[in-house]
Order: sequence, then C-alpha cells, then structure tokens
Amino acid sequence: MQAQNFPPAVNGNLYTALRAAFPQDLDAVVVETDSGLFYTWRDLERGSAMMANLFASLDLPTGARIAVQVEKSVEALMLYLATLRAGYVFLPLNTAYQSGEISYFIGNAEPAVVVCSGPNFGWVSKIAFKAGTRYVFTLGEDRTGSLLERAAYCADQHTVATRNADDLAAILYTSGTTGLSKGAMLSHGNLLSNALVLKDCWGWRTQAQGGDVLIHALPIFHVHGLFVAIHGALLNGSKMIWLARFDPQWVIQKMREATVFMGVPTLFVRMLAEPGLTQEAACHMRLFISGSAPLLLDTFKEWQARTGHTILERYGMSETVILTSNPYDAQQGERLGGTVGFALPGVSLRIVDEQGHGVAVGEVGGIEVSGPNVFKGYWRMPEKTAEEFTEDGFFKTGDVGMIDTQGYVTIVGRSKDLIISGGYNVYPAEIEACINELAGVAESAVVGIAHADFGEVGVALVIPKPGAVLEPAKIIASLKSRLANFKIPKQCFIVDSLPRNTMGKVQKNVLRAQYSFVQKL
Ligand code: AMP
Repeated sequence: MQAQNFPPAVNGNLYTALRAAFPQDLDAVVVETDSGLFYTWRDLERGSAMMANLFASLDLPTGARIAVQVEKSVEALMLYLATLRAGYVFLPLNTAYQSGEISYFIGNAEPAVVVCSGPNFGWVSKIAFKAGTRYVFTLGEDRTGSLLERAAYCADQHTVATRNADDLAAILYTSGTTGLSKGAMLSHGNLLSNALVLKDCWGWRTQAQGGDVLIHALPIFHVHGLFVAIHGALLNGSKMIWLARFDPQWVIQKMREATVFMGVPTLFVRMLAEPGLTQEAACHMRLFISGSAPLLLDTFKEWQARTGHTILERYGMSETVILTSNPYDAQQGERLGGTVGFALPGVSLRIVDEQGHGVAVGEVGGIEVSGPNVFKGYWRMPEKTAEEFTEDGFFKTGDVGMIDTQGYVTIVGRSKDLIISGGYNVYPAEIEACINELAGVAESAVVGIAHADFGEVGVALVIPKPGAVLEPAKIIASLKSRLANFKIPKQCFIVDSLPRNTMGKVQKNVLRAQYSFVQKL
C-alpha cells in the first residue's frame, strides 16, 4: 500500500512554541542568577526534558495537576517547562501560603504530584497524601531535593507531548480576598496567544536588532513573573538576569547590562528610594513595564524625572493574563500615567452598567472582556464560572473603569471595593487620587465601612511623606473644596504603612476589618 502524505501534525503545546524560539546557539546563556550561576539554553532544554521524563515514568493520568510551592530558582523554571512539555497542568502556589491554605488548594485541585521545599516536606506531604496525591518531591532553591535526585536518572531527550490549544496548561488560584480562592484554568492557547501579542506590542528586539535582556525580579508563582516575564523572554530568545529576591541596588546595577524590566509598583517605589537610580544608570535600558496594581502618578512622574524613561503601565489578571497596555511606540500614542492604555489586539473590552448595558464614552462601569487569552473557567466551579461570564461570552473582570475618546482605559477600582454611601456610588480611586495630590502625602487608601445611616461610609488611611506632619481634619477640609460631600471620607487616619500582598496590592479586605470599629463612632 502506498504511504499517505499527511500534513505535519501541529502541536498546540506552548512548550513547542517556546522551544522553537530558542536561539541556534544552545550554549548561549539564557539565565544569569544573582548567586553567580549561568544556565544555557541547552541546560533549560535538558533539565526540563529530564523532569518531563520523570513525570512520564510515573504514569500519571491525563490532565494530572502538578502543584508546586517552592522558592524561586532556575530549576523551578525548568519544572514549569517540564510540566508543559509533558502535557500536565502546572499549579503554582504562593510561597507564603500556610497549612490551612495548602490544605484547601490540594483538596480542591487534587494534584497527582506535589513539589515543595525540603523544610516543608513534613507537613505538606501529610496534607497531600491524605488528599490522595501519589508523589511528593522536594526542590530547594540551591539545586537540592528529591525531584532533582530522581530526575538525574532520567534521559535528557524528550518528545514534547501533543496538546491542543484548548487543553489546560495551568491553574492559577486567585488571591481570594473575598470568599474562597478560585482556580483559573488557562490553556496552552490562552498563554501562547497572549505572549505572541505582547512580543509584538512591546517591541521585543530580535538578535539582529541587538536583542533584549530582561531583569527578572518577580516571584514565579504569579501570572506576572511566571507568564508575562518568562514567556516574553523565552519567546524572544532573550537572556534573563534572575534575582531570587528583589534587591533595588542590585537591579539598578544590572540595568547597565539589561534592556527590559517588569515590576509591580512597589518595586519602582523602592528603586526610587536609591540615590544610585539616575539617567546614567538607566541609559542602557529600553523599557520599564509596571502592572499588577495601580501605579501612582507621582511614581510615574518621578521615574520619568530621575531616569528619563516613561514607565509603560499595563493591566491584566490571573484569569486573562494581559488585557490592555499603554503604547510602546510613540506613533501609536503617548504613555499616559494613571491609565492602563488600550485593549490589546484581539481583546474586546467594554464598560457596562449594573444591568450589563454599555455606557457612554468616559462613563464609569464594570469592565468586561473577551478574547483568545480569556481563561476556560474556574476549576470545578461551573456555577461560579457561569456567573462570571455574560451570555455573549464576555468575562466580568470585577474591575471598574472607563474608556476615553481615544481608547485609553482607566481602572477606578474593584467592584467589591466600590463604596455605596447614602445610595451614591463612591469610587475609592478618585478620592485616593485627590488625597495623593495634597502636600506631604505619600500614599493613601480609601475603604468602605458598614454604617447604620449611610449603608457604608468611606474611611481614608493616609501615609505621610518622610518628615511631613499631616492632620486628618485638614485633609478632610481640603477634600471638601474639591469633591461632592457624599464622597468625603467620614474618618481619616494617618498610618505608617498599608497592608499589601506579595504582588504589591493593598489588601482592602484587611483594612475593612481593621477599621470596622468606625461604624460605631
Ligand atoms: P491578579 O489576578 O492577582 O493578577 O490580580 C488582578 C487584578 O489586579 C486586576 O483585576 C486589577 O484589579 C489589578 N490590576 C492589575 N494590573 C493593574 C493596573 N495596572 N492598575 C490597576 N489595577 C491593576
């Protein structure tokens, strides 16, 4: 019988696309670490192949979850790549999570494999085995642990498992500031489509154009450090300068060898506190990108003045990866501080009122999105998933914002942070922006507290600039001349700091609990 000519099978596995972007010279350095280690592209390929072969030898069921709670290391990156190429589902967990949280995630996701740090093996394995997990390995940040010991016996060649674009690649648990944390299911296609769009939008430079070098200073259990930063660099064949933990002085020093930096706003603030941050220190850099939490206008302006660079702010979330970005190219528009830029190509973004009807340009409402990057739903929560999608397939982000006539999107807050005082909607971001403009104010947060008369009232927490002395009554008085009375916070407190999670987001749920006594004042 004559052999038939089938077209080559197209593998939708994200690793196939990442691997195709590796440079020809596999002995070139892909990661240089802050502890002085150098890894080549060949190391990434071989290390991830060995771990993928280890997983293959365990005979895991299709769609098995591999849950990982380990410190940041290049081996942890290999573990992520190994999970992709073996066709399993990567489930990263914040290193700060304690036993109660880990019990919930492991019970909910039922991973076949759990990888944890050596010191946590005792309690993590107890939880995992009880929940039916078959294998628990350890991985230390210093190239130790049973995962590497076992993988060392496996072959360093591995054929990437074929996956469809719609097959799951990762589950990311949302930070769960209200109610139970939900596992956002992201497919190979979700992740790849977004990475390809960003490669184009952010002008990643090919080797022929001089290439790019990324300073990777973020944790790798979150969408920002794991997907946006790592996919960006790998898909461009670009080297990463890798910090296990953020150190502002080290980053500033490394800017002379790098071109791209991605950070949450707190990282920019901490670098601004360093005298070494100058135009000269940043002159080799091409692009600074901020996201995951709102970037204060003050920080945006100060960065511009100190370094000569305009930070590019973008907006995204675990369920969608990146949704909007300020323009990279000046011809497409200005990078506007206080906004998160335009919807990315392929992303449809609309603003709706409480009934789900589109609002006029410039009006505030709920942000809804659709596009190839939008996740497949929440893990084992079909009702919650159905609630969060509209009938025409848009995802309700839970963020509140507006779009101006030019298409720039501004985030005003989370819908659950909206304050409804005496029946009026009060957007905390608007009040915070006014407070932040007052002399001597470094930063502020406004939260809604339940109140017998008004339903809710606003409470402002204000951090003074170093050396400044602020008086709550004066702050309230200054706001009165600028804002409608229903927007004025009923109480104002001067504080030293605001509670933040590891991604720099102010934890308003913590503040609401801390200041709930205000309802009785
Ligand atoms: P996460 O899923 O942990 O990445 O959190 C996503 C949420 O972070 C979004 O829904 C927004 O509320 C917020 N967020 C992300 N980027 C920005 C930004 N540039 N400005 C304001 N909020 C942001």
